[in-house]
Amino acid sequence: MNCPCCSNSSYQACCQPLLDGELDASSAEQLMRSRYSAFCLGKVNYLIDTLHPDKRQLDDVATLKQSIKETQWLGLKIIRHKTQNQEATVEFIGFYQDKPIGQLHERSRFVKQDKQWFYVDGEILPPIKLARNEQCFCGSGRKFKKCHATD
Ligand SMILES: [Zn+2]
Ligand SMILES: [Zn+2]
Repeated sequence: MNCPCCSNSSYQACCQPLLDGELDASSAEQLMRSRYSAFCLGKVNYLIDTLHPDKRQLDDVATLKQSIKETQWLGLKIIRHKTQNQEATVEFIGFYQDKPIGQLHERSRFVKQDKQWFYVDGEILPPIKLARNEQCFCGSGRKFKKCHATD
């Protein structure tokens, strides 16, 4: 199976070792990708483990389960990734099923503590315009207009 994070690698070679707890993310971008895959695959515990301890709340499990149930993720595009010492930001767009296609365009903050990267929080940015002749975000290799475009 292709990795849900749209890296063009297999799941085993990409996010699976992280989601299974065998490897720690080596960068904030890798953590971001693996969290996206965890959303796709419903791995709630991983999402909580990779959330900064200061940001965890009692109703996290219920909130995450609800979000996972309601959202069908279609693809991930990493826009930019900046790391400075123990802090990083990753700007990305997660695409989900909606009409027109839904976009979670976010600049996420990450910190590294005890050699481990954690997601802290994110700033929501406006959706971008999708070019009809560009490759579809879902990784199909087809043009957007021949793939997930809804109009
Ligand atoms: Zn992956
Ligand atoms: Zn597509």
